Amino acid sequence: MLAPTPKRPLPDTLWRALASDAPFSAGATLARDLDVEVAIIGAGYSGLSAAYALQKRGVECVVLDANPVGWGASGRNGGVVSSKFRLSFPTIHTLHGLDTAKRMHRLAHEGVRVVESFVDEFGIGRARFEHTGSLRCAHTERALAAICAEADWVRTTLNDTSMTVQSRAEVERETGSKGFVGGVLSADAGTILPLEYVRGLARGMTARGVPICESTPVLKMHRASGDARVTLVTPGGTVRAKQVIVATNAYSDLTSATAPYQRELVPFRSAMIATERLPADLDARLMVERRSYTETRRMMKWFRKVDGRMLFGGRDAFGKEGQMTGFDALQRAMVSLFPDLAEVRIDYRWSGYVGMTFNSLPHVGRSDDATTFCLGYNGAGVAMASLLGQHAAALALGETPELSLLGAPGLRPVPFHSLRAPGVRLVAAWYQILDAIGA
Ligand SMILES: Cc1cc2nc3c(=O)[nH]c(=O)nc-3n(C[C@H](O)[C@H](O)[C@H](O)COP(=O)(O)OP(=O)(O)OC[C@H]3O[C@@H](n4cnc5c(N)ncnc54)[C@H](O)[C@@H]3O)c2cc1C
Repeated sequence: MLAPTPKRPLPDTLWRALASDAPFSAGATLARDLDVEVAIIGAGYSGLSAAYALQKRGVECVVLDANPVGWGASGRNGGVVSSKFRLSFPTIHTLHGLDTAKRMHRLAHEGVRVVESFVDEFGIGRARFEHTGSLRCAHTERALAAICAEADWVRTTLNDTSMTVQSRAEVERETGSKGFVGGVLSADAGTILPLEYVRGLARGMTARGVPICESTPVLKMHRASGDARVTLVTPGGTVRAKQVIVATNAYSDLTSATAPYQRELVPFRSAMIATERLPADLDARLMVERRSYTETRRMMKWFRKVDGRMLFGGRDAFGKEGQMTGFDALQRAMVSLFPDLAEVRIDYRWSGYVGMTFNSLPHVGRSDDATTFCLGYNGAGVAMASLLGQHAAALALGETPELSLLGAPGLRPVPFHSLRAPGVRLVAAWYQILDAIGA
């Protein structure tokens, strides 16, 4: 007897409010047994882009999600489409050499190309993808020197001219904040409405005949010895598949079947607030170029303007998803950068988990000869998950996509995983102290 699964609605986000029509609803709950080539667990960017790659190759697949499409991070993130990893390219060069740095740089930019091409191919205009660039704003002269050195290295060593330095006055004019001493603009980046994007992918896959089953948690996964197929048990039926792709990222612990993948990660809560529509004068003054903006503090905050509202986000190691903690601190941080927003009402507050990894890079690999996984986007998965889901599909079919440092030899659980929550808090507290003293 299987336990009933709780129905989880999409969180109450600005994205849900802006969604243009009824939720993606072709995804019926699985109510029969199925035999397929590949079963994909997770209907976020990773799982749906894996489905895309399989469908393109004519491989029969099904996508199973415990929740509605985009319920995970894909429907609630900040919508920043970026061409970078958490580990900088000069650091990758120092640790792994120039060839690897070049390959990783290529992969990072390919992620943005994939988002562009998905939006085109599936006509996801309502996701409002804008290739406006991303401005990294320095909070100290020391931080500015570090990001300028990085931009310089990328330009001279990788011949990438997309990163340019901005003066204090330029950053102030563009953002409307006096809180920064300068910045670096990455032109190959943009913004998107994340829930519209994931729903657009789901609609596209459904139109091409890929079944997407919502409210269908995979509760058990097993393979009898000598059986070529894996059996996935869900409340409404079993799926037998030759290959399984686990695309559950920071939500892998929803059931015990996928929980081992959570041990590859340190989940970190990321929280966001969205203001009411700004008065016209503020709207005309703040973030006039409509880019995304990040800052250089270790406990990084980021912001953008959507629908005439300020959207402000940041990592919060101390709260749990669904709790109301952390939002006041976020509002204080917003007002300290934008004092004019002191009286502006906050209309939306929400949070979700990002999957951090110990090496600060995503991991794509096979956990056994029938199971492939992709996860650990370190808070930058809009573009990367759109790319790596496809690479996971290729791996599952026995191909050898270019993965460079993202290729994982197998599951590598974080050491002392059970201590990760207190560990994260300790590190975050230390980072907050360093940020506060400007170190
Ligand atoms: C608040 C927040 C802000 C962010 N901001 C940005 C940003 O601005 N830019 C950026 O690039 N990235 C950002 N990210 C990260 C980005 O959203 C993620 O990296 C990306 O969405 C991961 O996609 P995914 O498909 O791998 O996982 P998810 O979208 O999390 O999907 C996983 C799915 O797996 C399902 N699932 C889990 N276990 C099971 C099971 N046992 N059976 C069936 N289904 C299961 C879940 O229901 C879920 O729908 C942010 C994340 C958060 C939380």
